[in-house]
Amino acid sequence: MKHQDNCIFCNIVQGLAPCYKVFEDELTLVFLDVFPASKGHLLIIPKEHFRDIFSANPAVLARIAQNSAMIANVIQSVINPDGLGVHQLNRKAAGQTVFHYHVHMIPQTLGHNVGLHSKSAGDPDQLRDLAERLCFAVKETLAE
Ligand code: 5GP
Ligand code: ZN
Repeated sequence: MKHQDNCIFCNIVQGLAPCYKVFEDELTLVFLDVFPASKGHLLIIPKEHFRDIFSANPAVLARIAQNSAMIANVIQSVINPDGLGVHQLNRKAAGQTVFHYHVHMIPQTLGHNVGLHSKSAGDPDQLRDLAERLCFAVKETLAE
């Protein structure tokens, strides 16, 4: 599997950098965004390094789409948002800041529409607690 040395998401995949993990399979990893736009802001990434949609493996994108449906229902059961934004940016001109393909899942509340990026880091204790609850809900969903 191809990784890139200076890529933060490759470092997370390889265990060289920490993350608040929610789910993984052999192709993908789901973890909390450390600068959450809202409570429960998750990222789904391929374990292999693809810069963006132009170079991504379509079979891996299919798995990400499949997992995003499962994760959406887990977010709904744990966070109970009014809506859920699913976003994916490609290249600087589109707002991409981490150049390892990823999909954002951002819970939204009616009347408080938030963007994709936050300037403030999430509280580590809250992120850890939320990751644990999401992780538990994923396991329950997969066991059904
Ligand atoms: P982009 O703008 O590329 O679509 O989004 C990149 C996202 O990655 C941002 O929402 C940012 O907060 C998040 N991010 C950047 N560095 C890290 C990190 O080290 N860990 C985690 N969990 N998220 C990160
Ligand atoms: Zn990478």
